[in-house]
Amino acid sequence: MKRILVAIKRVVDYNVRVRVKPDGTGVITDGVKMSINPFDEIALEEALRIKEKGLAEEVVAVSIGPADCQQQLRTALAMGADRAIHVQTDAVIEPLSAARIFKSLIDREQPLLAILGKQAIDDDCNQTGQMLAALWGRPQATFASKVEVGATSATVTREVDAGLETIEIDLPAVITTDLRLNEPRYVKLPDIMKAKKKPLDTLDPAALGVTPAEQLRALKFEPPAQRSKGVMVKDAQELVAALRSKGLV
Ligand code: AMP
Repeated sequence: MKRILVAIKRVVDYNVRVRVKPDGTGVITDGVKMSINPFDEIALEEALRIKEKGLAEEVVAVSIGPADCQQQLRTALAMGADRAIHVQTDAVIEPLSAARIFKSLIDREQPLLAILGKQAIDDDCNQTGQMLAALWGRPQATFASKVEVGATSATVTREVDAGLETIEIDLPAVITTDLRLNEPRYVKLPDIMKAKKKPLDTLDPAALGVTPAEQLRALKFEPPAQRSKGVMVKDAQELVAALRSKGLV
């Protein structure tokens, strides 16, 4: 079956003003709105569009993390994913562990494409897709802003520093999404009801042969320095005077 695996990471919603814990060991997540990582919503939307064009038959949403990840998987099912896999763990999941888990699922599911976000907005690592492609030994097209799937290959436009780059990759492959790829659809109430009946399997990382390893140690979290208040100036003259007084011109 032509299948697409989509990564769905549960993260603090992008509208939330993140606060650092007083002891600097992390950020406060209690009572904070959590959502699907925005780039993963884009990944799911793209997978659904590929399926709607008849180029894939099944979209499987995968999330790795604690029990609450099922909320985001239910949203993914309401958006249109056919089924979901929750790899349940309370362990810290670094990009290499996530990539190993995805690779193990790929061995089981044999997808045509694995679509991930270019980065998770909580750790900003931008590593998982690349590591997965290396472990899988398959091509990767990262920072995708346009995807055209063919019979045995895909043409992907990538957002690079110099502008846009278009590459052709053999399938199966890994694609990671950039912001301009698409605008994810809204979830409608009847779809939320329907999603409750869709299959959601739960697995243990150990069942996939992966022991999540902690190879990184976060030393300290601190909020960015507070910005000092701006000064209103009447005209250009006052602006120049204000800049001069600060030694900036
Ligand atoms: P990162 O390398 O951490 O910036 O994450 C890049 C992408 O990998 C994310 O946008 C997700 O698509 C995927 N990913 C990373 N960690 C997880 C996770 N715990 N569960 C599901 N997907 C993940």
